[in-house]
Amino acid sequence: MTTVAAYAAPSAKAPLERTTIERRPVGEFDVLIDIKYSGICHSDIHQARDGWGEGIFPMVPGHEIAGIVAETGSGVTRFKVGDRVGVGCMVDSCGRCDACASGREQHCAEGNTPTYNALDRNGEPTYGGYSTHIVVREGFTVGIPNGIALDEAAPLLCAGITTYSPLKRWGAGPGKKVAVLGLGGLGHMAVKIAHALGAEVTVLSQSLRKKEDGLKLGADHYYATSDPRTFEELAGRFDIILSTVSAPLDFGAYLGLLRTDGILVNVGAPEEPISLNLFSLIGGNRSLAGSLIGGIAETQEMLDFCAAHGLGAEIEVIEAARVNEAYERVLASDVRYRFVIDAATI
Ligand SMILES: [Zn+2]
Ligand SMILES: [Zn+2]
Repeated sequence: MTTVAAYAAPSAKAPLERTTIERRPVGEFDVLIDIKYSGICHSDIHQARDGWGEGIFPMVPGHEIAGIVAETGSGVTRFKVGDRVGVGCMVDSCGRCDACASGREQHCAEGNTPTYNALDRNGEPTYGGYSTHIVVREGFTVGIPNGIALDEAAPLLCAGITTYSPLKRWGAGPGKKVAVLGLGGLGHMAVKIAHALGAEVTVLSQSLRKKEDGLKLGADHYYATSDPRTFEELAGRFDIILSTVSAPLDFGAYLGLLRTDGILVNVGAPEEPISLNLFSLIGGNRSLAGSLIGGIAETQEMLDFCAAHGLGAEIEVIEAARVNEAYERVLASDVRYRFVIDAATI
């Protein structure tokens, strides 16, 4: 075991503080990563404050990890010391089920092993990226191409793949009209990626406050959802609506913005169950769907795509000691668009 520095929430209601944790020895198929940057995802805050219950404390959040390989196990073939690498939302899966065999490890029949706030296959707690080092299986490590700076790459490991995967799966591209609902950490990457895929992109945001940003990020149009005229004007417009918001939504109203055969995909989830008149799906053969991150191979494909198109996240790099302040600012939607912890300050 190696003792390394980290920022952890000691309990559900306590602020994060500097501490030390143990990382396992580098096994045959493991890589030791010298973490350079770790993004702050909205779900880190939910979990560190035990919003979903059953949190494992102390908790070291962070599943948007970018760093450099510092050591490799004897069986590692894909990475060598000095490589630029990333780790996202999961660090293991069974490797045998249909989902794993088809490269969709996130849907592993035995459950994937989340990067933090989980027990690994040996029953040990997993600790995430708000730390100086992490030991991860080679198979759950991805390469970060030279074309993306490591700090701008970190948020791609969650926000990037979470939006890339559904946009690809449902065919965002030339001739397709895509609406991105919400312009935050996920939404701003969705706009960049949908634009790079060649789709016509519209941002649907509560207000026009971030309109200038949205157009700069690649949106063609920008509408305020607080204005009822938006729903009249855009009725039947979109092939795909990607919802990144977790606030309660009037799903019927948004489904009305889809064309025949259109799809509304959720990557954000309101905490309350929804009530929906199914005629808003039946009339127009519309679909309502969800999407969970992406598999490891697809995560690599996303990073290669982003590098080829010069895409990184819009970030504000902070010292680790400011993580609690950053959490408050995320909750107040006061970040454009992702905080990234500089691991050298941990
Ligand atoms: Zn995340
Ligand atoms: Zn599996």
